Amino acid sequence: MAGQINAFEMAQKQFDHVSGLLNLDPQIAEVLRWPMREYSFRIPVRMDDGSLRVFQGFRVQHNDARGPNKGGIRFHPSETFDTVRALATWMTWKCAVADIPLGGGKGGIIVDPSTISTSEKERLCRGWVDVMWKNIGPRNDVPAPDVGTTPQMMGWMMDEYSKLVGEYTPGVFTGKPLGGGGSEGRTEATGYGVIYTVREAMKHLKMDSTKAVASLEGFGNVSQYAAIGFVEMLGGTIAAVSCWDRDDRTAYTFSHKDGVNPRFLLSITDQYGTIDKAKAKEAGYTLEDGEAWISKDVDVLIPAAIEGHVNGETVKKISSRVKLIAEGANGPCTPEADEFFKANDIFNIPDFLCNAGGVTTSYFESVQNDMNYYWTKKEVLERLDTKMTQAFDAVLEMSRREGVYMRDAAYMVAIDRVVKAMQLRGWV
Ligand code: NAD
Repeated sequence: MAGQINAFEMAQKQFDHVSGLLNLDPQIAEVLRWPMREYSFRIPVRMDDGSLRVFQGFRVQHNDARGPNKGGIRFHPSETFDTVRALATWMTWKCAVADIPLGGGKGGIIVDPSTISTSEKERLCRGWVDVMWKNIGPRNDVPAPDVGTTPQMMGWMMDEYSKLVGEYTPGVFTGKPLGGGGSEGRTEATGYGVIYTVREAMKHLKMDSTKAVASLEGFGNVSQYAAIGFVEMLGGTIAAVSCWDRDDRTAYTFSHKDGVNPRFLLSITDQYGTIDKAKAKEAGYTLEDGEAWISKDVDVLIPAAIEGHVNGETVKKISSRVKLIAEGANGPCTPEADEFFKANDIFNIPDFLCNAGGVTTSYFESVQNDMNYYWTKKEVLERLDTKMTQAFDAVLEMSRREGVYMRDAAYMVAIDRVVKAMQLRGWV
């Protein structure tokens, strides 16, 4: 849209703000403002009807000073090079704040995956690898699933890469299916990771988690396991969750007088995160409009659906009881919402710290692939807890030491680590 800032300009602006806080040398900042390598390419695919269709593909490698680039491949009809650049940049900061030895990458193809057949999808996935295989690899760049891509697609891509290099190389893609080189615990990882950071934030805020009440936006992969973790690990209560109803094309909030039972709701939720309204009502759930989740009388809000829903308008509905916001989704809170949190002393766990459990477990997947030895779910989740707790502590420490907001502190920790790695390698 005319006049609207694009995602990459936003990523650069955020970086400029924090490089100012860090007093970063402008020459070093110039290196980090831009991706190190960018690939834009065409993928010819033979369609089922015999015709040849040419797809536009991308891969951006933002910075690999700390280790191989890491980040998903999106299949989306309105994918742009700048979106991929922005997402690759954010991956550098997310991996650095989680302190996993990886850099930032992102890829994509301009396609609506729902409009092509399974065999066309497989040829498109293999085609992406046929172009990119010399520039990706376990020591170089490790893609993963993202919007529009699935574990099965990662299986095909890993297979194509393995054939081209002549040896089984599972560590080149993560997010693979279980039994096909995937890791235990990946399904729970992001939601549980959110809860590990919530637990640490509650300790810091001296909140009793067994008396805490939370409300969540969304009931997809992240929200489901965040809700389960909030109840089962912290002993807290869930007042409400929400979801987007695919039939009605409307959002609803679900609450229960005795608190939401997330395992029950999970049993009546489809693969897209839509809760069955009739079954919920039958079980005594109350249904309200999609925004009701934000105005519940709770201590903790966990927006875990989509970006921008906690904004200058909706934030006015937040109860004065709320002490903590945990950003399960990417970018759920706008800068106006941030100003409200600062003014009202509401503690924020920023997205790229809060939801880093997913990428951390992807890293564990490639470690297990390298060893060709696989951990139990318990081992994966214990390691995840340790990494998330350490990441939270580092950001909190930076926030206290520099007297800055948690979001700025997370950026400062991340950028500082990447700059150090570049200096140690003699790049800058
Ligand atoms: P998902 O597709 O599994 O679930 C999304 C949920 O949000 C669904 O319940 C859907 O009904 C709901 N929703 C969509 N629009 C809504 C609306 N307008 N109002 C209320 N609910 C709405 O997605 P997910 O994997 O849980 O991801 C959620 C967010 O977390 C996204 O921002 C994603 O980028 C981010 N994230 C996910 C992971 C991961 O590992 N899954 C990792 C990091 C970040």
